[in-house]
Amino acid sequence: MANSEMKHPANAPGPFYVTTYNDPEGQGCTACTICYTAAPEFFSEDSEGYAYVSKQPETDADISLCREQMDACPPVAIGDDG
Ligand code: SF4
Repeated sequence: MANSEMKHPANAPGPFYVTTYNDPEGQGCTACTICYTAAPEFFSEDSEGYAYVSKQPETDADISLCREQMDACPPVAIGDDG
């Protein structure tokens, strides 16, 4: 489970979030590029290549796509408060 105490400040408000690279629990984004390559409508990279949620998904299909990124994220840096 991603650390909800270490959310990237650029995340769009809503249930999905990405944690910052310096998460002390070791679950921060490592800028691996997977999420914003596979789901660019919802994940973007900041100036250093770290991901954040740029838009919250609304449809079931889009929510599924974002959950797939949660499963694919190597350090478990993507969370869902929903
Ligand atoms: S998949 Fe995870 S580690 Fe990779 S860029 Fe996205 S949030 Fe960061």
